[in-house]
Amino acid sequence: MLLREAREAVVEHCLRMRDDDLTVATSGNISVRVGDLVAVTPSGVAYESLTAAGVCVVDMDGHPADAATAGVVASSELPMHLAVYRGTDAGAVVHTHPLYATTVSLLLDELPAVHYMVAALGGPVRVAPYATYGTSELAEASVVAMAGRTAVILRNHGATTYGPDLPTAYTRSLYLEWLCRLWHQASLAGTPRLLPPEEIDRVAALLRGYGQRPGEVTPG
Ligand SMILES: [Zn+2]
Repeated sequence: MLLREAREAVVEHCLRMRDDDLTVATSGNISVRVGDLVAVTPSGVAYESLTAAGVCVVDMDGHPADAATAGVVASSELPMHLAVYRGTDAGAVVHTHPLYATTVSLLLDELPAVHYMVAALGGPVRVAPYATYGTSELAEASVVAMAGRTAVILRNHGATTYGPDLPTAYTRSLYLEWLCRLWHQASLAGTPRLLPPEEIDRVAALLRGYGQRPGEVTPG
């Protein structure tokens, strides 16, 4: 099977995405890049019934690259996944509809530095302007808002993260949702105090110094 490992990783993380409450029903999608090919979730398939053989494989233009799944429609957000691969050094992309990141998308233009772990995402995470799902406009707006970051929040929609590999990209989605939840919790009770940009830069340097991928570090 073409890209067997990548396809199995997509299935495994789709189930995690559901169990971790990062998305609802069949929404959300995951992809892994291997060379000039991308393994990506099919459109509208329940994660419980998704198998590695049912994961689509496309080229960098979005054309089917595996005859076995050529008739299966790839995720509607494929343009966004491909735009992230073209615009960054991503090895994997995770797109979700999590409750708190989507809440933040309705209220803010940027998730502020409420905790030093925003450094693991490159700094305060911007909210991309709204565009209809699946469009090239949304794909472009996402990549623009991701400049210098590994995450973006999508207005009235959800969130997208990327990383060198799927475990890292996925962990960043978990961090982003936790940070958004933290901001929301604090905002219910008052005005959150924030960290200054120089402290985020300092922590970013520390995280790099761990010599591990940001998703793997266990800061104190
Ligand atoms: Zn979506």
